[in-house]
Amino acid sequence: MKYSCLFSTFIVAAGMASHAEPVAEPVAEPRIIVAISVDQFSADLFAEYRSLFTGGLKRLQSGVVFANGYQSHAATETCPGHSTILTGSRPARTGIIANDWIDQSIDRPDKKVYCAEDPTVPGSSTTNYTVSAKFLKVPTLGDRLKAVSSHSRVIAVAGKDRAAVMLGGHSIDQVWYWSGASFVTWSTAKGPTPAIVEATNAAVAKLIANPASVPLPAACQTRSLPVSVADHEVGVIHEAKAGDVGAFKISLAFDRAVTDIGIGLIHDLKLGLGPAPDVLAIGLSATDYVGHTFGTEGAEMCAQLLGVDDNVGRTLKALDATRIPYVVVLTADHGGTDLPERNRARGAADAARIDPALAPGKLGQQLAAEFGLNSPVLLATQPFGDIYLARDVPGPMRARVLEAARKKYLSYPQVAAVFTADELRRLPAPSGPPDEWSLAERFRASFDPERSGDLLVALKPHITPIADARYSVATHGSPWNYDRRVPILVYRPGATGFEHPLPIETADILPTLAALIGLPIPAGEIDGHCVDLDPGPDTTCPR
Ligand SMILES: [Zn+2]
Repeated sequence: MKYSCLFSTFIVAAGMASHAEPVAEPVAEPRIIVAISVDQFSADLFAEYRSLFTGGLKRLQSGVVFANGYQSHAATETCPGHSTILTGSRPARTGIIANDWIDQSIDRPDKKVYCAEDPTVPGSSTTNYTVSAKFLKVPTLGDRLKAVSSHSRVIAVAGKDRAAVMLGGHSIDQVWYWSGASFVTWSTAKGPTPAIVEATNAAVAKLIANPASVPLPAACQTRSLPVSVADHEVGVIHEAKAGDVGAFKISLAFDRAVTDIGIGLIHDLKLGLGPAPDVLAIGLSATDYVGHTFGTEGAEMCAQLLGVDDNVGRTLKALDATRIPYVVVLTADHGGTDLPERNRARGAADAARIDPALAPGKLGQQLAAEFGLNSPVLLATQPFGDIYLARDVPGPMRARVLEAARKKYLSYPQVAAVFTADELRRLPAPSGPPDEWSLAERFRASFDPERSGDLLVALKPHITPIADARYSVATHGSPWNYDRRVPILVYRPGATGFEHPLPIETADILPTLAALIGLPIPAGEIDGHCVDLDPGPDTTCPR
């Protein structure tokens, strides 16, 4: 019962320091810690929609609102972003530098590894990977709680496996994510499938076979304007076809199913009733799929965000029903921006799709010809971010080839900057307000000398790195603030809320939550700092 002791000490200390007259009832120590990550829910989307919310996202705004949260690093992708939320650490420390990266030592033709896999499991491949937290170099909140008391339970449910794994960590008790056909758990999981998962899978299978027609909410009608992109149109709602499994991920039913499982497990596992606090991590992934498929400013995103509002509301009601003190933090793994076609139509003249000439394979071929080398000279999983010099480029030539590659990238007008691994290795970890960091500091925050590329390439703002927009029209992943800024909402029933416009980092979430339960975090282990949730002179942080 180390917790309670630690927590009592903290309360006494906070109480002694308080000298205000009438004080509100102290808010009880949370027994259920809930983290909700809404994939691609940018601070811009929060600002645009916050007045329209009537459900859970309205109620969370009565708590503490950090409208300028930051996923402070450059690699604004799902896996790095989720790795910061409950670890207190930036990707440079979590080791999760991207969704996928190149590992030239691996025995795979594409040399690609996935952030949430264990490639050492026999039979694992890029397409048939074994889900694991192996690559996550640091403990999560759940791992830290379990290290103190094995009674703490850690539950992670998400649309995406990487969201569940990076939020949950190394010692998850129950992890559930969508496999592409049903909600599944990882291969080492023990015990029977919970009834709520079975029931949800059965309901989802029915729904995929017979999709329900969902009318566009009245609040979204004015956003229903078609935009032409590639061979199709976005901006207006299209009905899902019967049997279309892929359409499930971009439907309101996807997040609803994840929420159903989360709520079911709160109830079935009697979360919060054990002798130590429990963690429930929920990854609502559909917003990201909607953003990629339709962009961020159409009727589709409007309907989706009102769906998130409803799902968060249902989760809060389920937590209320337990009558157990809880805390909910809601944030996102990264932001996002709209498709360049609609951005341009709305006056952003610099919005464009990437020049296909910037494909690493093509640039590598040119370098191969110039230096008389075998292709590929450059390896990468994307036309920006981490670019790797092939291992078989001979040692004496490597510096010259790398410099030529750097210059080649910089000769393209869509490229904003190129950093070398050496440059980033020499930079100290960034500090101070994340909105003021230099571009190099943003890259440094997601740089891991073992895993990162030899070159780090930043495209200019509003350049969408999708040349062919037939399947995916918009994305994120840039070091620009539209991809870095996310809301961070912290809600404790009974606590007085306030809005804090100054920037904080998602890495600040872990120490902030840890302070609420008196969980010590040894100095120097994390990047984040405790953020005070008390609106007055008291503090929720250790003094
Ligand atoms: Zn995404």
